[in-house]
Amino acid sequence: MKTLTVNLPGRAYDIVCGRGLLDRAGELLRPVLRGDLAVIVTDSNVEPLYAARLARSLHGAGFRAAILEIPPGEQSKTPEVLAELWEQMADLGITRSDSVIALGGGVVGDLSGFAAATILRGVSFVQIPTTLLAQVDSSVGGKVAVDLEAGKNLAGAFYQPKMVLMDPDTLKTLPDREFRCGMAEVIKYGCIRDRALFDRLAEDGGRERVMAHVEEILLRCCDIKRQVVEQDEMDTGLRMLLNFGHTLGHVYERAYGYERYNHGEAVAAGMTAAAGLGTLLGVTPEGVRGEIEALLRQYGLPTSIAAGQKDYAAALTKDKKSDGGQISFVVLREIGRAETVKLEKAKLLDLIREAGL
Ligand code: ADP
Ligand code: ZN
Repeated sequence: MKTLTVNLPGRAYDIVCGRGLLDRAGELLRPVLRGDLAVIVTDSNVEPLYAARLARSLHGAGFRAAILEIPPGEQSKTPEVLAELWEQMADLGITRSDSVIALGGGVVGDLSGFAAATILRGVSFVQIPTTLLAQVDSSVGGKVAVDLEAGKNLAGAFYQPKMVLMDPDTLKTLPDREFRCGMAEVIKYGCIRDRALFDRLAEDGGRERVMAHVEEILLRCCDIKRQVVEQDEMDTGLRMLLNFGHTLGHVYERAYGYERYNHGEAVAAGMTAAAGLGTLLGVTPEGVRGEIEALLRQYGLPTSIAAGQKDYAAALTKDKKSDGGQISFVVLREIGRAETVKLEKAKLLDLIREAGL
């Protein structure tokens, strides 16, 4: 078992990672949670796989565990499902000293985190991410949200967990496509901050070999995210670098109605596109795009996604990272080193046209 501490002023918390940790959750959480009631929020895919083991471990440490189940998938990340969770938590008699535990992927984490942040004006929150994407990305950093009709993640909060527990063994049941989706973010960390990680992934070449040392990979990714979040909790500067591949990734997700491509697939194509644009801007060396493409191919991820000029224009107008007409666009100086450039939206659209994207 390995621990990383996220040092936020007054709200430091541990990320604990180890195989079989699910069965030890109770003893690990007892010192950081005050109340007796632990409300486990999970989805109907994860519930039959892992909820009983978690509940047993919590009981063993003297908690009362309740399980609330939501339907799987992004369509549950809504104000309506959030309101149902509030009512169910109130019916359970939750008090200020009790806690909410997210057991599942990013959808469960974002939704139940927002419920934890708001029920009774905030109860303790714990993340037990069970997808690769949630383990390396969404469970760390304290962003919780639901989607609105107007767009994804538009209503939310910054709300840090009391602890993040990751059991890499839970990844064994993850469908291949979900695994690939998480790998896109892992590759992103290599691109923005860690050449050695990038090379190691190229050497591994696939799921089986990654799984043989997945703990190390999870910790490396979480450590990078930890450093960035510690320096920029509220997402005003440095945290922007985590957005590599995401500005255009969001265009692709949106262009296909969030159905054809999952987040990781869209980000994969967004990263190669960003490498190409970085070269046009004179920042990214020529060969970088090809290297990223080769790695994405090894992991079964797309290297490009077709979109029209009006998809780019519409999505870039909505980009949360835009500030007036300016967009902070993340480019690579080399593999392992990212920086942002501020671009007028019109200029970015010109470059996209020039690159033939
Ligand atoms: P994210 O990719 O943001 O983490 P979700 O929360 O939607 O997204 O999870 C992706 C899918 O994987 C969901 O259908 C969820 O039920 C399922 N899932 C999550 N964890 C596991 C797991 N460990 N084994 C099998 N399926 C899982
Ligand atoms: Zn992402």
